[in-house]
Amino acid sequence: MKESYRICIVGGGIIGTSVAFHLAKFGENRVAVFEKSYISSGATGRCGGGIRQQWSARMNVRLAMRSVKLFERFKEDTGMDIEYTQGGYLLMAYSEEEAEKFEKNVKMQREEGLDVEILTPEMVKERYPYINTDGLVLATFCQTDGHANPHLANLGYALAARKMGVDIYTHTKVEDIIVEGGKVMGVVTDKGTFRCEVVVNAAGGWSREVAKMAGLDFPTTSYRHQIFVTESLENFFPFMAISFDGNFYMRQTKHGQFIMGQGDPDEKPGINRNVTYRFEKEMAKKMTGIFPFLKNVRIIRHWAGCYNMSPDAQPIIGCSKQVDGFCYAVGFSGHGFMLAPAVGEALAELILYGKPRKVDISYLDIERFEKGISEMEKNVV
Ligand SMILES: Cc1cc2nc3c(=O)[nH]c(=O)nc-3n(C[C@H](O)[C@H](O)[C@H](O)COP(=O)(O)OP(=O)(O)OC[C@H]3O[C@@H](n4cnc5c(N)ncnc54)[C@H](O)[C@@H]3O)c2cc1C
Repeated sequence: MKESYRICIVGGGIIGTSVAFHLAKFGENRVAVFEKSYISSGATGRCGGGIRQQWSARMNVRLAMRSVKLFERFKEDTGMDIEYTQGGYLLMAYSEEEAEKFEKNVKMQREEGLDVEILTPEMVKERYPYINTDGLVLATFCQTDGHANPHLANLGYALAARKMGVDIYTHTKVEDIIVEGGKVMGVVTDKGTFRCEVVVNAAGGWSREVAKMAGLDFPTTSYRHQIFVTESLENFFPFMAISFDGNFYMRQTKHGQFIMGQGDPDEKPGINRNVTYRFEKEMAKKMTGIFPFLKNVRIIRHWAGCYNMSPDAQPIIGCSKQVDGFCYAVGFSGHGFMLAPAVGEALAELILYGKPRKVDISYLDIERFEKGISEMEKNVV
């Protein structure tokens, strides 16, 4: 076993493995990933797999648009088929207030070069007669949005990184970070101590605990989100449907199953991955109303994972000004899967070259909260 690396990554989810993959791709393979459980055991393997560029915050649009470019060549880059499909994303507004926000967002998204349509309820009905449009005020649609299988994407990055020389330690927990004279010197794990120059906090729902190991206080909080999947129907629903004021999202997998979830405003902070019957009852009632074809379709599996929320629901990405060598990509607030390719690329470039080459992420560093919250991301379920 090696005793030192240049870069140690805490967390083997989609973010940690994307950072590792991009570091290796740019020629730096003195890298180790430490995952306390198995690859994709965290939020990644529990997520809906949605990939959307229609955001209210400009930084999210930019990261998502770059990610789509990288998802488009994921198979070529990693060798893994991740069931990626660009069937589009339908955003549904059920109030005048939400509709107005959507129109404002579309203006900004188009400025960024995104091709987004605005649809009336009649247009939605005509295109998708199997959706009940009662109460719908307006919708937006972007054809290049889509979805993919998150397990395969996480594994794709991990296996490709390993092939390029990255060491991946599963079932290995990082218990402490060694900091001396304000500089990262190594990590202490339950399998031994490793010296390194850089630590990357990619610990998802555990990001606050890992930051604490370096003596830093991160403003991230984890909340449970539940999700279930139905038995399979014939494939006819290529896009993902989502509503923020309606509080739901849904997509059909390659194998015909429908995956869907909603947020719970009464959820208490903390890691909780139990499921509730209340969730199944509420979801089933709401979703069979809007998507009547789901009536009598059986739920086959129900699980939960964590959103790692940041104060403005935008990710926190950068390298610490207080602890030299401590970098982070956390607080993804329910959209880290879709942003992972661009985030991994940008953070790897920041670490290796001092500056990202494709997307400027300087706005997203942790210092932004010193000035208060300037822009909340609103397009989150
Ligand atoms: C129900 C649900 C639906 C979602 N739907 C979507 C969606 O449709 N689209 C989307 O983009 N996002 C979605 N998300 C959000 C997305 O899953 C996350 O933002 C993303 O997976 C975060 O990736 P990550 O690598 O940061 O975290 P994770 O996948 O949680 O990985 C972090 C890893 O760090 C490990 N770890 C933690 N502490 C330590 C330690 N001390 N030592 C070693 N390892 C450690 C954990 O075991 C974990 O595996 C959803 C999330 C949930 C819960």
